[in-house]
Amino acid sequence: MPTRPKPACTWMSLSNWTRVVLGFADRRHFGRVHYWESVDACPSLKVLGIDALSSDFTANRLAKLLATSKRPLKDFLLDQSRIAGLGNIYSCESLWHARLDPRRRAKHLATGGNPPPCTKQLCPFSRRALECLLASGAQFSEIRSGGSRDWRVFFACTARKGKPCRRCGEPISAQGRRAAGQTYYCGRCQEISVSTL
Ligand SMILES: [Zn+2]
Repeated sequence: MPTRPKPACTWMSLSNWTRVVLGFADRRHFGRVHYWESVDACPSLKVLGIDALSSDFTANRLAKLLATSKRPLKDFLLDQSRIAGLGNIYSCESLWHARLDPRRRAKHLATGGNPPPCTKQLCPFSRRALECLLASGAQFSEIRSGGSRDWRVFFACTARKGKPCRRCGEPISAQGRRAAGQTYYCGRCQEISVSTL
């Protein structure tokens, strides 16, 4: 059985002597690897919120979490103690697909129904963004470094500042200082009234 080459910047790999190998690749050097005897023994795992890919991540659960937060939607989605697994790319893509302004206050989505219409959109789009981008293997660092493959084909808005929105043609906006943490959104079709900011 031929073995596949390790991805670039693979710092550690674990194998149980089967064909399955779990690797840790981190080109940006943001990550760390810790060893714990059990999940309960790891403080940082104990405080994680709902896994965005789990069946527990429902519109109703999302609505309850949103109702308790005054933070902008984008910041809310990045808070791993509420929803675990959504990083910058996934958050931007989810909000674009759900047509929600990332600057909108989280609690304002938790109204208008049971569950609120906005959460019925955001929940599946968050999960779908994760599944699609994980399947693509897209890495933001490879976009920035000008790798051989253009990962932006997978993105609706991420890393597309100034390029036309795939839905309405408006140039995509970007906010934030650091490129890897920028918020990408369309100011037209993700637009909301100022009163709900
Ligand atoms: Zn648009």
